[in-house]
Amino acid sequence: MKTFCGRANPTTGAMEWLEEDENYDYHQEIARSRYADMLHDKDRNVKYYQGIRAAVNRVKERGEKAIVLDIGTGTGLLSMMAASAGADFCYAVEVFKPMANAAVKIVEKNGFGDKIKVINKHSTEVTVGPDGDMQCRANILVTELFDTELIGEGALPTYEHAHKYLVQEGCEAVPHRATVYVQLVESKRMWSWNKLFPVHVEAEDGEKIIVSPSEMEDCPGVPSVCDIQLNQMPSSDFTILSDVVTMFSVDFSKPVRSASTSYRVQLEPVKSGKAQIVLSWWDIDMDPSGMINCTMAPYWVKSTSAFQWRDHWMQCVYFLPNEEPVLQGEKVYLTACRDEYSVWYKLQKARGEEENKAAVHVQSPVCRCQAHLLWNRPRFGQLNDQNRTRQYIKALMKVLKTDSVCLCISDGSLLPVLAHYLGAKQVQQYATFFFFKFFKANNLEDKIKIIEARPELLTSSHLEDKKISVLVGEPFFTTSLLPWHNLYFWYARTAVTSHLTSSVTVLPQSASLHMMIVEFQDLWRIRSPCGTCEGFDVQTMDDMIKNSLNFRESKEAEPHPLWEYPCKSLSDPQEVLTFDFRKTVPEYSLSTEGSVNLLRKGKSHGAVLWMEYHLAAGISVNTGLMQISNEKGNCEWNPHCKQAVYFFSSVIESETLLDLPSAVTYAINFNTKTGEITMDFKL
Ligand code: SAH
Repeated sequence: MKTFCGRANPTTGAMEWLEEDENYDYHQEIARSRYADMLHDKDRNVKYYQGIRAAVNRVKERGEKAIVLDIGTGTGLLSMMAASAGADFCYAVEVFKPMANAAVKIVEKNGFGDKIKVINKHSTEVTVGPDGDMQCRANILVTELFDTELIGEGALPTYEHAHKYLVQEGCEAVPHRATVYVQLVESKRMWSWNKLFPVHVEAEDGEKIIVSPSEMEDCPGVPSVCDIQLNQMPSSDFTILSDVVTMFSVDFSKPVRSASTSYRVQLEPVKSGKAQIVLSWWDIDMDPSGMINCTMAPYWVKSTSAFQWRDHWMQCVYFLPNEEPVLQGEKVYLTACRDEYSVWYKLQKARGEEENKAAVHVQSPVCRCQAHLLWNRPRFGQLNDQNRTRQYIKALMKVLKTDSVCLCISDGSLLPVLAHYLGAKQVQQYATFFFFKFFKANNLEDKIKIIEARPELLTSSHLEDKKISVLVGEPFFTTSLLPWHNLYFWYARTAVTSHLTSSVTVLPQSASLHMMIVEFQDLWRIRSPCGTCEGFDVQTMDDMIKNSLNFRESKEAEPHPLWEYPCKSLSDPQEVLTFDFRKTVPEYSLSTEGSVNLLRKGKSHGAVLWMEYHLAAGISVNTGLMQISNEKGNCEWNPHCKQAVYFFSSVIESETLLDLPSAVTYAINFNTKTGEITMDFKL
C-alpha cells in the first residue's frame, strides 16, 4: 500500500505530496528509538536482573510456581532474565508489532522458546483463562514503562489494569516502588526558557524597553514536560532554595490508582531567593527492602561516583506559574498535581492553617497568553539571549536608514520591534495573533503592520504599493528541525523579489554551513550496536535498528541540542557551504567535496553541522560551536539551538585512528529543488 502525505517542505516552503512507504513510520520509530540506549544502560539492566532474581526466589521460597507477566517486553530482555532466574513461565506482552516480532526471534535464539510466550497486544487487551492469552494470573509483575516524568508513558493506567485483571493479589513487582523527588531552585537560565525578559534597546532617542503583555507574566505555560540532561547544567547556573524532598511514591505491588490526585509537602527554604523552578527526578527500588536502587538523581545529590549516563531517563524542570519570593526558614507548601500522564506544581506560602487545609486543586497548565504556543522553551531562551539580541541591534543600526521600508520574515520574531525603535520608517511582518497583543503592550499597534499572508502570497496591496528596502530575518521558523531548514528564509526572499527595491539590503546577507568531526562522551550509545546484554544475545535488535537506519537510501542527520551531550572536536571546524541571500535561490544544486584533518586522537563517532548567519559586514550569529574550550578539544555549543548530528555507520573503523591521525573526506550536497542536504563521509 502506498500512502501520500501532504506537508509544507520545511526548507523550500513548497507544498508537496510525499509518497510514504507504509513501513516508513515504524522504521523511523525503530531507527530513532531508545531501545539501544536502554540496552546500553548497564546500571538499569544489572538492577533489574538483581530485582527479578530476588522476586523469583521469594515466590519459590513460598513453594509457589513463579509465573511472570512482563508488560512492554521490547526485546524480551526482562523475561529472559526471569526465565534464567528460574521462573516457571513468562508472559511477555508487547504492543508494538515489529518489537514483538523481534522479541520472538530473540527469545528463540537465546533458547527460551518454551518458557516465554510473546503476546503482541496492549496489556489492556490481554485475556486470562484456559483459552486466553495467559493460562492464569501471574504472581510476578515486571515492567519498564517509565519515562523521565515516570508516568508519561502510561505506567499508571497500565498497572491499574494489570492489578485488576492480570496478576494475583499480593504479587511481587519489579520494580517494587518508585519515588519522585523535588528540589526548589532559583535559576535565571532556566526561567528564561519560560518567560520573556524585558529587552533593552539603546536607540538614538534614548533607551527603549520591550516588555511582554501582562497575560504572559502569570501564564502557567504549557503542560508538556521539560526533560533535560540536568547533569550538564553547571551549579553556577542555579541556586538551591530547598533540600531534596520526597514528593510522592507509588507501590507497584499493590493496586495502583491512576485517577488525578495531588500531593503536598512542606518545605523550609535553606536560602532566601526567588522560587521559580522545581527540579524533579525519581528512583526505583527493585525490591521491597530498597537495597537495589536505580536513581536518576543529578550530580549534586548522588553520593556514588559510579555514574550511569542514559538518555531514555533524564531529569525534569517544572516552571512555577509565577516566581515567588521565599525566605530562609519560612515554611512554604509545594503541591504536585497529576493526572494519568503528567505532573505539575504549585507553591503556596504557609500563612493561615485554614487557608491551606482546603485541598488545593490546581488546574493542569494551559497557556493563556499564546506566547508558549508560539515559542518553545529553547526559543524563549534564544529571545532572552542578550548577546544574540545585541548582534541584531548592531546589524540593524548599520543597515537601517530613516526612510527604510522594512519587511521581516521569521516566526515569532522581535526583529520588527527592534527595527522600529532603531528608526525604520515602516515595518511589516508576517506574524500570528499573539503579536497583536505583543505590539499593543508596547504601544506599537499602529507602528508595525502585521501581514497575514505567507511570503509566497505577498501582494503589493499588502505593502501599500511600497517597495521593501530592507528585508530582515533571524532567520527562525518553527517548522525547522535541522539547522538548514531555516534556509526557508532564502526561498521566501526569492518569492518576494518583485517587491524589493533594486538596492535592497538583505539581513542576514548570507549564511554558511559548518562541519566538524567529533567524539561524543556518551551520545554515541544511542546509535551503537549492543551485541549482548547481560549475557543475552540481542543482535537481532541491532540488525533491526541498522536495517531501519538504512531504510532510506541516504542516511539522515538528526537534530540534538549538543550543550546536553558533551563531545570533543577531532578536527577543526570547517565551513563547507555558503548561501548568498542577496541573490535568489539558484536553479542548480550547491555541492562541495573536501577533507578535514583529524587533529586529535579519539573515536570519530560522527560529524556535527550547524549554521552561521552573517547579518552584516563583520556581524554574525552562530547557532553551533561557540568555542573549543581547551587543548583536549572540549566543545561549547549554543545552548538555544539544536545542531545536526550525522552518525558514522561504523565507529569501530575509526578506532585505528588511535595511533594514526588522518583525514575524513566528505561530499555534501544541497539540492535547491528539494531543500535537502545529503552527505557522505569516508574515514
Ligand atoms: N522491557 C524492555 C523494553 C522497555 S521499553 C526493556 O526493559 O528493555 C517499553 C516497551 O513497552 C515499549 O516497547 C512499548 O511499546 C511497550 N509498551 C508500553 N506500554 C505497553 C502496554 N500497556 N502493553 C504492551 N506494551 C506496552
